[in-house]
Amino acid sequence: MPRCGFRAVQGAGSVLAMPKTTDLTAITAITAIKCYAVPQTLAEITRLLATGNATMFAGGTDLMLQTRSGIKEFRSVLVNINRVGALKGISRADGFIHIGALTTISEILQSPLLREKAKIMVDTADRFASGQIRNSATVGGNLCNASPAGDMAIPLLLLDAELELGSVSGGNLNRRTLPLDDFFLGPGKTRLDLNEVLISVRFEVPRGDFVARFEKFGTRPAMDISVVSVGVAGRREDGALRDVRVAFGAAAPIPLRGKKTEAAIEGRLLDGETISAAARLASEEISPISDVRGSAWYRRRLMMTLTGRLMQDVR
Ligand SMILES: Cc1cc2nc3c(=O)[nH]c(=O)nc-3n(C[C@H](O)[C@H](O)[C@H](O)COP(=O)(O)OP(=O)(O)OC[C@H]3O[C@@H](n4cnc5c(N)ncnc54)[C@H](O)[C@@H]3O)c2cc1C
Repeated sequence: MPRCGFRAVQGAGSVLAMPKTTDLTAITAITAIKCYAVPQTLAEITRLLATGNATMFAGGTDLMLQTRSGIKEFRSVLVNINRVGALKGISRADGFIHIGALTTISEILQSPLLREKAKIMVDTADRFASGQIRNSATVGGNLCNASPAGDMAIPLLLLDAELELGSVSGGNLNRRTLPLDDFFLGPGKTRLDLNEVLISVRFEVPRGDFVARFEKFGTRPAMDISVVSVGVAGRREDGALRDVRVAFGAAAPIPLRGKKTEAAIEGRLLDGETISAAARLASEEISPISDVRGSAWYRRRLMMTLTGRLMQDVR
């Protein structure tokens, strides 16, 4: 039962009964939640964050479990960002696909645009948790939670995605972009500043010859945190892959690109020799830990098998 987050949902009920405020002067540095804020704009969110006393939640599927288990503490203002329209929607403009940070995993799964142009996003969403969790869990929360095993980072690394971040200073809303590849610093740690919110994720509309595959291994096909996950992508050309991208999850302190494995695949005929050499490199270039889900040795073996399998699949 605790795994499904039921007790966390009960906890959320008591939070909703708290007074609402956007009055920043009322906010003091205390650890328990004192008020519940429902900003309507990006500027309001970032002003609340700039006080240093705010905890932001989107779907709450990570946050509620982390606060219940004591991994994280709520700050005094609980900021529900779900009313901010600027964080929502999947669209195509200027050669890019933009995915708002509040886009849920279910919305990714149901997006005709992603299904047509970046199916790897849909395929990954299809392996993510259960219907109930997918309806609440957001892509922004998945990235900002910065779990080494966060699934959505893998297809987005393959798509060479950039993040649009926003903050307020001197009354102005500032936006900056950051490659996803530079975003993660360690488990639970990112380059987000204290007063910054993730607005959206964007990537170039993939070309027609772009292929990408995702695979994860858990003790169940979905509804489980990955023991390892891997993605392989590139442009198919004369039996080889060009512009190769490989990404690993649950295999290091952060989700990351496998640059050595990419180099071993780039432009080479995808025959048995290339595939076994690249799969071996994948198992060598990761730095997994041993934990309750599997030993480091087991993760390396899994990574070799899954990478080999994906390469067979893309050729
Ligand atoms: C039963 C269960 C199964 C799960 N299965 C999977 C799975 O298969 N794969 C997987 O990857 N994950 C899984 N998860 C983890 C979780 O559902 C995801 O990580 C989810 O995407 C987090 O999104 P959220 O909107 O719920 O984030 P929240 O819990 O609301 O927030 C997570 C963190 O991100 C921050 N945050 C949220 N939005 C923003 C933003 N726009 N800007 C800046 N910071 C922000 C919050 O402040 C918080 O620190 C599972 C969780 C459960 C409970």
